[in-house]
Amino acid sequence: MNRISSRLQALSPSATLAMSQKSAELKAQGVDVINMSVGEPDFNTPEFVKEAAKRAIDDNYSHYSPVPGYMSLRQAVSRKMSRENGLEFAPEQVVVGNGAKQELCNVILATVNPGDEVVIPTPAWVSYVEMVKLAEGTPVTVYAGVEQDFKVTPEQLKAALTPRTRVVMFNSPSNPTGSVYTRGELEALAAALADRPDIIVISDEIYEHINYCGEVVSIAGMPGMPERTVVINGVSKAYAMTGWRIGYMAGPTDIAKAVTKLQGQYTSGASSIAQKATEAALDGPQDCVEEMRKAFERRRDLIVELAKEIPGWRCNVPQGAFYLFPEVSGCLGKKAGEREIATSSDYVMYLLEEAHVACVDGGAFCAPGYMRLSYATSDDNIREAMRRIKEATDRLR
Ligand code: PMP
Ligand code: GLU
Repeated sequence: MNRISSRLQALSPSATLAMSQKSAELKAQGVDVINMSVGEPDFNTPEFVKEAAKRAIDDNYSHYSPVPGYMSLRQAVSRKMSRENGLEFAPEQVVVGNGAKQELCNVILATVNPGDEVVIPTPAWVSYVEMVKLAEGTPVTVYAGVEQDFKVTPEQLKAALTPRTRVVMFNSPSNPTGSVYTRGELEALAAALADRPDIIVISDEIYEHINYCGEVVSIAGMPGMPERTVVINGVSKAYAMTGWRIGYMAGPTDIAKAVTKLQGQYTSGASSIAQKATEAALDGPQDCVEEMRKAFERRRDLIVELAKEIPGWRCNVPQGAFYLFPEVSGCLGKKAGEREIATSSDYVMYLLEEAHVACVDGGAFCAPGYMRLSYATSDDNIREAMRRIKEATDRLR
């Protein structure tokens, strides 16, 4: 007897979290694994943010918070969007939840009817397709490989639209590819949607501050887009606060209201203490963000250089986030002794078991033939991991 709902049976587990768990298990057995699977900053949360959380405890922020978040935090988000993104959202248009992940899922559940199509440019973060499935929507993937720097063209986007298209998902800087759309590219994509004002755009901007191109532009600011774009962001990446679980959406009032209703029935307001810490992060000095960005840029340069030494890899130069997404088909169809490496998934398992480096198979991001490495780890770890990967890859015949 299978007691699990068909909705949940159809859902795949998060491959990023699963790989990280596997690597932790190997580590617990004493294996010296370098974990480049999960994507999270290796830095500690800035001191002034931690202090704000301690103050919130002492000030008895211990009661239920309002479902969409404290008004003071929603105001801080509204100011942040105006100051940093040139986007005007009233605090009433902001909903705070348990990470960008929850707000993404909330917005999808709030806008997608069963059978509605959701266009997802791929390679895409592991959870998008699954969230759409949870809402009983139909994911429509639009693939852009390394040869086009993983960026979909307006023509591709247009070709994917049908009368059933309800939502287009957007993620720049992208997880897993690190690609960043330029202002011109965004204008062209917005133009491709101009005659479909019924389509909602969800723009996941969680990596905006981790970029190496000086400017990350939001599609929400393009002509015709403000009324129908929901921006998703949070503090996990920019402020090294993954465990605090605070993210938010900012978008049209009807969607913010629907998300609040949903949240009121299944999670309530997010952690009161983490919200006060987030307020401090958004309103406080921002040099910590730049310091971490610089470290990521140095590591990006390092891993891109080292990747050139690995036979069979083809890479872009990521302009944001902290991932490298090599195309590895040159390593496939080979053998290590008796072990066959037929797929990128085989290759990733081989690297885990033989080189003790944990990565994630591109298949999890709708891009088999690729793999993802998170370089949010020390320079020494990056050097050693790439040395091991090279050695294991050199052995393939
Ligand atoms: N979107 C993308 C593209 C991500 O990589 C992540 C990181 N897991 C999230 C959303 C969710 O971030 P969080 O829930 O930690 O705010
Ligand atoms: N965004 C990170 C990743 O892709 C965190 C893990 C997750 O939430 O999937 O690895």
